[in-house]
Amino acid sequence: MTIPFLDLKSINAQYREELVNASARVIDSGWYIQGEEVKAFEQGFAQYCGSEYCIGVANGLDALTLTLRAWKELDKLKEGDEVIVPANTYIASILAITENRLVPILVEPDEVTFNLCPQKAEAAITPKTRAILPVHLFGRMADMPAIMDVAERHNLLVLEDSAQAHGASINGKKAGNWGHASGFSFYPGKNLGALGDGGAVTTSCEELADVIRTLGNYGSKEKYHNLYQGVNSRLSELQAAFLNVKLRYIDDEVRARRSVAKQYLNNISNDHIALPNWDESSNHVFHLFVVRSETRDELQKFLGIGGIQTLIHYPIPPHRQYAYQGYFSNQELPVTDHLHESVLSLPMSPVLSKYDVDKVVARCNEFYI
Ligand SMILES: *Cc1c(COP(=O)(O)O)cnc(C)c1O
Repeated sequence: MTIPFLDLKSINAQYREELVNASARVIDSGWYIQGEEVKAFEQGFAQYCGSEYCIGVANGLDALTLTLRAWKELDKLKEGDEVIVPANTYIASILAITENRLVPILVEPDEVTFNLCPQKAEAAITPKTRAILPVHLFGRMADMPAIMDVAERHNLLVLEDSAQAHGASINGKKAGNWGHASGFSFYPGKNLGALGDGGAVTTSCEELADVIRTLGNYGSKEKYHNLYQGVNSRLSELQAAFLNVKLRYIDDEVRARRSVAKQYLNNISNDHIALPNWDESSNHVFHLFVVRSETRDELQKFLGIGGIQTLIHYPIPPHRQYAYQGYFSNQELPVTDHLHESVLSLPMSPVLSKYDVDKVVARCNEFYI
């Protein structure tokens, strides 16, 4: 029996009855776009994050793209402005920047946390820098106190990419409530996953919330009056109904993920496998459990033969993607390149049994080269 990397079916099976009831509620309501479920989720999720506003959008990429666009509409950003972003992020963070004709400035991550290093971010600031886009990669929060300090001293906007970090916090303050705005994804595989696409922006700036909401609704606030050349990006009523169910369980799921992580951390012991370091603080929600190995490909093959499915996040860094050919051509990013060659994500989910984790541990400990 293989141990899957992520068993979405079992995750959602835990809440099957409530999810079925939620979908029935939407079907029977006769109201399928921007109804009570979306409203309730926006309120619930803003409250969960501790922010004033939450705006549901179609997906996580739109959450980031529309926030930057809104800042352009508000004259806080303009085409050609530089946005500092970790070089090892998922491509969506970069796409949101270039879609707005802003310039991504790739900064090497901290090799231990995989996250944007505040010192390197500060060193990358130029007169054209207007924003920082830290990413809470793999579920671990970036060093937000230090990043906000840099941003305040240089008068920069901060957009958190919280797509992998629902519920993570530093000093009691959650992801989504540190920056001036934050983008979330509810893609099914994320820690708070819908049963289809979904996303949201959280912010405590009323003006920004208002413009994002308007942009996502064809640029229209009042029906048939268009203020902007907007887009259609709304959180679906049905997905919001599912998310209202799953939001109630996110803290339990985070606890379950952390206990899987602890079991890995306490028991995997192999010189060829470097474990993530974690001090058991609330800054990590273990969206992924990412180890490193100089013999990563052999390790992945060895685990695969033993019936353990693993994935690589990510095999190709953004600056080496075909889509960005010529774009970052002069930049050397050795830390980022090396991370992409050495990372491996072990099975991680809130429904992974102790027994299965033991099997992964045992197989990891048997690996030799
Ligand atoms: C998933 C993800 C996104 C994009 O979210 P979608 O809902 O898939 O568009 C953005 N940034 C990061 C870091 C992600 O992991």
